[in-house]
Amino acid sequence: MPNKKNLVLLVFLLTLSCTLPGLMTMDSRPLENINITIDPGHGDTKAYDNYRIGPTGEREEWINLRVAKILSRKLTRAGANVLMTRTKNKDVSLGGRAILASQHQSDLLVSIHHNASENDSTIDFPLVYFYGAASMNPASVDFANILINEMRNKMSFEQPNAGSVYSDHLIYNSGTSILRNSIDQMPGVIGEGGFFTNPEGERRLKSKEYNELEAEVYFQAIIKYFDGGIPTAKPLIPDTLDFLDFNSEIQFQLDDGFGNTFFEDNSFEIFQDGKRLNSSWDIRHGVLSAQPLITDENRISFQVLARNFKGNAIHPRPFSFYTEAGKRWYLEDDWFTAFRRADSLFTQFDSQHNLPLDERLVLLNEALHYYRLSLELQIVHPNALEAEKQVLVLLELKQELVGEDLQAEIEKQSSRLRDYYP
Ligand SMILES: [Zn+2]
Repeated sequence: MPNKKNLVLLVFLLTLSCTLPGLMTMDSRPLENINITIDPGHGDTKAYDNYRIGPTGEREEWINLRVAKILSRKLTRAGANVLMTRTKNKDVSLGGRAILASQHQSDLLVSIHHNASENDSTIDFPLVYFYGAASMNPASVDFANILINEMRNKMSFEQPNAGSVYSDHLIYNSGTSILRNSIDQMPGVIGEGGFFTNPEGERRLKSKEYNELEAEVYFQAIIKYFDGGIPTAKPLIPDTLDFLDFNSEIQFQLDDGFGNTFFEDNSFEIFQDGKRLNSSWDIRHGVLSAQPLITDENRISFQVLARNFKGNAIHPRPFSFYTEAGKRWYLEDDWFTAFRRADSLFTQFDSQHNLPLDERLVLLNEALHYYRLSLELQIVHPNALEAEKQVLVLLELKQELVGEDLQAEIEKQSSRLRDYYP
């Protein structure tokens, strides 16, 4: 119970704090120190894209950019560090957009899109996509749920409740490139703020006022989301760690996003390569620990899940470590043995044009295997670029030799080269 003197002091301090400029600033800059990437979808596709276009000629990429620009200004005014993946009507590769978001060390990635229907011009509703499985992507799902509700309540749609929050695996088997390639770093969503193939939808989306409204909807959703804080987990291992010791526990320091360790009870989980470990929580020190499972993998990853007292989830970005075997693979140049083996198999394949097709194919597949094996730990070894290029060459040769359609794999390898070895 405070005595009278303390009470007077408390009242005085409270009165003072309400007029302090510091507090006023905090309210008007609620996104201070938060990094956000805004990705206006597509760009400069007029020459080849006749699909993303409304009945009177409004293009999706134009709407996306207008909304993104307004949103970017609002976020900047609220104190956020905003990165736009494009600010003009020009295209940026999907992998490139994910790399930009990662370099920006974003706390959130928001990709702004609008929808089209090929055969039904009456449909018009909002959709928000997250990457992969909801259980392993809780932070993105949290934000997606806030965003869809804001969209439904504040924007105009012909069928406001028809849309929902969905996994991007419903669009593509392996999800969308931009979310897949940024998921290891940050939560992210793709927002689809209505259908421009609906004549009334297009009319709205063409108007500056409606673009402003949509940007405000994103803005309010972002404010609401970050009001819950950004809880984090960091592995507590020595800097000198060469490889993970299976005999000791792995420990993570948790922060609820407000410098404390207040989390929801029973919300803690540690996964090792997708397998759930038994973990224990030390609330006093904010440390979550588990005993790793022994495996013969060369490299293993851990992910930590928990919800802070405001209900915001940690984004379970993976933390990877070498095992002893992996460290040996690297130190003893096993990658080089694999690379040399691949090179010699390729030379045999290349010089023996008279061999029967099936025997040549065996050589080709073996060479492909060993080039990929040399890159197995994603170690950028001195011959990594050469190995990646050879993988591409061999995929193209294989497609030619067997007449099998490998276009998807070829495109994936090309984008690896573009994105990781620019
Ligand atoms: Zn789009």
